[in-house]
Amino acid sequence: MNQRRTFVIVGAGLAGAKAAQTLREDGFDGDVVLLGQEPERPYERPPLSKGLLLGTADRETAFVHAAGWYAEHDVDLATGVTVAAVDRAARQVELGDGQRIGFDALLLATGSTPRTLDVPGGYLDGVLQLRTLPDSDRIGAALVDGARLVVVGAGWIGLEVAAAARQRGAAVTVVERSELPLLRLLGPDLAAVFADLHRERGVTFRFGAAVEEFRGDGRVSSVLLRDGTALPADVVVVGVGVHPNVGLAEAAGLAVGDGVVVDQALRSCDPRVYAAGDVANAYHPRYGTHLRVEHWANALHSGPAAARSMLGAKVVYDRLPYFYTDQYDLGMEYTGHAPPGGYDTVVVRGDLATRRFIAFWTAGGRVVAGLNVNVWDVTAQIQDLIRSGEPVDAARLADPDVALDALTSGGTRQASRP
Ligand code: FAD
Ligand code: NAP
Repeated sequence: MNQRRTFVIVGAGLAGAKAAQTLREDGFDGDVVLLGQEPERPYERPPLSKGLLLGTADRETAFVHAAGWYAEHDVDLATGVTVAAVDRAARQVELGDGQRIGFDALLLATGSTPRTLDVPGGYLDGVLQLRTLPDSDRIGAALVDGARLVVVGAGWIGLEVAAAARQRGAAVTVVERSELPLLRLLGPDLAAVFADLHRERGVTFRFGAAVEEFRGDGRVSSVLLRDGTALPADVVVVGVGVHPNVGLAEAAGLAVGDGVVVDQALRSCDPRVYAAGDVANAYHPRYGTHLRVEHWANALHSGPAAARSMLGAKVVYDRLPYFYTDQYDLGMEYTGHAPPGGYDTVVVRGDLATRRFIAFWTAGGRVVAGLNVNVWDVTAQIQDLIRSGEPVDAARLADPDVALDALTSGGTRQASRP
């Protein structure tokens, strides 16, 4: 008689929830146990810094599944539960209360945690971070008309919160140690587009600045910069990046680098243990290196890929990194991988000043990444360009009269944002 198998998923975020869904959709008839630390059932985080902060999105739309879905699909979801340890030898996870659950295969989908700033005053009321629904609620409640918001970090959190705050009538100052927002990712010309966008909407930037201290009596009232400037603040949002939640994997003796190191099938050095989403540092066959991607689409697709791998399918997770943002009336999608030093030229099709363009990062004439701003339905063509690996004439790439499809001889497409 076949023994009933148990697949345990640690982390009930998007990657974990989508993995559970795929296990059922692909016919797994054993036990699916989905364990999550947060009190809510799995939800998506993008609305937390956009529609939910602006008050334009319905909270229910953030959830990955309807409340009844888990019971209906025999997925044993436990929320408010922390997994304290993974015992690989016994093939069990141990919960915070000491309870043990056996597994035949284990998926680590533990996501990431915001970095904190190691400066005095970080404990003050009103010094906030944004990762969870309650975080979003707290920030939303503070963004009243006329409130003075200081944002630390001009990354995705910083810029999206700044946009929502301006639209809600708050006065916004963004403190960033670089000379422009998103500089490392976008390079100076494209980063300047985002700086201008926010300046036009009344955001004040303090570039090349570092926070020395948060000051206040119980509640934050100012942010002291290293140059001695004190920025008055009713609320502060710190968005200075995240670190992957690798503690369980590390303690269990799994290979951990920047994330849990997994192969292209999302399998760790222990063949029964897999990782997906923000926490996975997965081998990417296209790039010939391990990549950790901290974006929604990666959680959406790598969770299911890991589930298929757990079921024994031959999985090669080789999707191109993809993400999007919405700030004011600017909508943007980015696809590909162009780290500093990974490209030599940026080719622009359209006009940066009107914020309606596609930018292409090229290396040796080949497109390695593309960013479409307020231009839609081009992600598939950009992906074809990248996947083709064919050299492209820069003048034709920049010419809006040359169809993107005409630049290559065809390619494999992957779906992007819904
Ligand atoms: P997470 O969402 O971090 O979920 C992991 C879960 O595991 C958490 O609930 C955590 O509590 C739980 N967990 C961790 N350790 C344990 C443990 N030991 N026991 C039990 N549970 C545990 N990306 C985009 O591409 N576009 C966007 O517009 C965008 N907007 C964003 C806005 C915000 C405010 C944030 C915070 C992120 C945004 N992202 C966006 C990034 C995207 O949301 C993440 O990449 C995605 O959430 C990663 O999903 P995940 O399931 O891997 O991890
Ligand atoms: P992020 O995008 O990595 O940006 C962090 C920013 O903070 C960077 O500009 C960084 O500058 C800056 N910074 C780092 N240390 C600093 C310090 N000590 N003082 C001042 N600035 C500092 O991270 P995030 O904005 O915090 O977002 C958190 C996570 O959510 C990320 O995984 C992100 O991808 C995800 N997210 C994604 C989206 C989206 O895709 N639309 C939206 C929201 C959140 P340097 O570059 O110089 O280090």
